[in-house]
Amino acid sequence: MLLEETKKIHIKDLKIRSLTTARKKLLYRLKLYTVFDVLTYFPIRYEDRTELKNFSDIMRDIYKSLNGKVNGTVIAEVIDYEYVKVSDRKILKIIVTDGEIKAELVCYNREFLANVLKVGVRYIITGIWEYKYNRLQSATFDYAELGNQGYKKDEFGVVLPIYSSTEGVRQRTVRKTIHIIVDEFADKIDDELPEYVMEGRNLMSLGKVIKILHKPQKMEHISIARRNFVYYEFMKMNLVIEYSRVEEKKVDKGSRYRSTKLADEFVSSLPFELTSAQIRVIEEIKRDMLSNKVMHRLIQGDVGSGKTIVGLYAMLVAVDNGYQSALMVPTEVLAVQHYINISNLLSKFAKYHNINVRILKGGLSSQTRRLLNFEMEYGRSHIVIGTHALFQDDVVFKNLGLVVIDEQHRFGVEQRAKLVNKGFHPDVLVMTATPIPRTLTMTLYGNLDLSVIDEMPYGRKKIITNWYKDIDTRLVYEKVREELKKGFKAYFIYPIIEDSEDLTDLKSLVEAYEHLSNDVFPEYKVGMLHGKMTPEEKYEVMDKFKKGEINILASTTVIEVGIDVPDATVIVIEGAERFGLSQLHQLRGRVGRSSFQSYCYLITSDRISQEAVERMKAMVKCEDGFAISEIDLRLRGPGELLGYQQSGIPEFILADLIKDEDILKLTKEDARKILSKDPDLSDPKNQKIKSLVQKEKQRIFVVKSG
Ligand code: ADP
Ligand code: MG
Repeated sequence: MLLEETKKIHIKDLKIRSLTTARKKLLYRLKLYTVFDVLTYFPIRYEDRTELKNFSDIMRDIYKSLNGKVNGTVIAEVIDYEYVKVSDRKILKIIVTDGEIKAELVCYNREFLANVLKVGVRYIITGIWEYKYNRLQSATFDYAELGNQGYKKDEFGVVLPIYSSTEGVRQRTVRKTIHIIVDEFADKIDDELPEYVMEGRNLMSLGKVIKILHKPQKMEHISIARRNFVYYEFMKMNLVIEYSRVEEKKVDKGSRYRSTKLADEFVSSLPFELTSAQIRVIEEIKRDMLSNKVMHRLIQGDVGSGKTIVGLYAMLVAVDNGYQSALMVPTEVLAVQHYINISNLLSKFAKYHNINVRILKGGLSSQTRRLLNFEMEYGRSHIVIGTHALFQDDVVFKNLGLVVIDEQHRFGVEQRAKLVNKGFHPDVLVMTATPIPRTLTMTLYGNLDLSVIDEMPYGRKKIITNWYKDIDTRLVYEKVREELKKGFKAYFIYPIIEDSEDLTDLKSLVEAYEHLSNDVFPEYKVGMLHGKMTPEEKYEVMDKFKKGEINILASTTVIEVGIDVPDATVIVIEGAERFGLSQLHQLRGRVGRSSFQSYCYLITSDRISQEAVERMKAMVKCEDGFAISEIDLRLRGPGELLGYQQSGIPEFILADLIKDEDILKLTKEDARKILSKDPDLSDPKNQKIKSLVQKEKQRIFVVKSG
């Protein structure tokens, strides 16, 4: 049977003699309900008890080790007890010897051991040893009496797997119970990959891998087995990605577009020169769109790198050739901003007047909405900008040729698919400002071609970033005042949880707002922006800020994504330690959007965690979004970085996208090779892969709604 199929075998239905009701209950307590759950409940660590050592071996190992601690098993005799006083506690130390060297077993909270380990008796002792206060000692140890029958064979002289357990469940019982299931099923697990693939990489069969991970004979076998398992996990994912990519490439959209004249004229009419990165990416888009293949392209560009123009170029190509485009954005504020920007850019030129740009958002009157639906259905609207509203069922396009998705990571794969299905294989352009580390890009967007805008518009200056403690807040205020005097604008960001029901948070924003407007900057106009406002209210505030009727905007992170006010040159982030690194970088990207020198001031409380210190230092030192996201990834891991809910990151059992990067690359190559030779997977030797891909495709690309 396949490993997946053991998900259908429930522990409660198993009839194995040694698997008693008590043992079954124990598995339920560990939340293990199926055979699959148990087989993949791998040990959290292993203890090497294969080799008997004496204390001088252990001393030598300690000397060679990096952290001064080693694992080791010795046979030793108890010779004495000692009690030492540490503050007001008495701690038991049991003195043992192997005949040559003495060592201490430190018994924290295990005073009873004085009655268990007896003087003059020899024990086999496994522990973590270190050299402290001139003595060899162990505070973490396990023991068994070396009696006539020797020691418990199954726990010494072996590599002992240690499982994660819960309160009151003994390690020994957990281990025995899990091993009953492993013994019963591991050999029955079939391989999911064809033999030739396994031979090519010298892979062990999956059943064997599972067995080794639960019952290893030697320490060296564990990491090999682990790498094998990781290979299987990544390979499955990469085969699915590569297969979908090949499938998508097979579609012939015909020569839908012939002209890029309108789009090219638009670009040359812009008041600024495109960067060479923008030009390069536009060329790539042009090539994709003019070809018969459907475009699936991801544009990565740091905040402020000018992605909108590039997306607009693509939309104009579609319009020029009689097709509609949809631009999907994550928030209404952003939709309105894009709508105004794009309308403005286009309205400057008489010849574009017949391009209808529309915005689809919540809260439209039913009459307006009906009119809009009508326009879309009959092809009267050319560029439609909207939020989630775009993929509602009543939205019908006449001929949707292009879907542009801005700030992609906020949409699930499923949602993207919904919009794409509103046209006949429309071209897809995904734009993301979240600089996703390269490692992750491959996984998350493996089926998209990648374009990178790695250059900022000409004349941009490095944003000067400084980190201050609370106590220096006044100082920061004065620096902000200098900028305001020059006629620039400032953001103040507060760490408010956006969707929290808790109003105390909101109250603290209101207080901060009142403090800024009444006490600190009475001479300036301060506005406030937060998630509890309606989109109309939010837009009104943004508009006033843009026009200069407001000089200072006190806000939650609602301004995080995509807001563009070029003459805002300062951003102050209060409680900065409460933000993730990538989020801080996104926030910082709200300034530095013109040729004026911009500033970012991070304010934290006086005492913050070491990890938060690292984040602040990274912000001060580093301006490149990709480098920042790499650091963030290492500090927090991919799930935290992108948010598991929205990220679409598949979940792995053992594989780690960062630590196992080498295997990730290997499987990518292997999957590519297989599919380039046999794109349809019709070769008989690839049948296993074909059925695997079909099953996995559903599993991996089902994105949790939420
Ligand atoms: P992002 O990549 O963050 O979406 P935008 O597309 O919003 O960035 O662009 C940021 C700002 O830079 C906008 O005001 C835009 O008009 C401007 N811009 C874009 N490209 C250039 C360029 N080549 N030269 C000067 N300004 C540009
Ligand atoms: Mg943008």
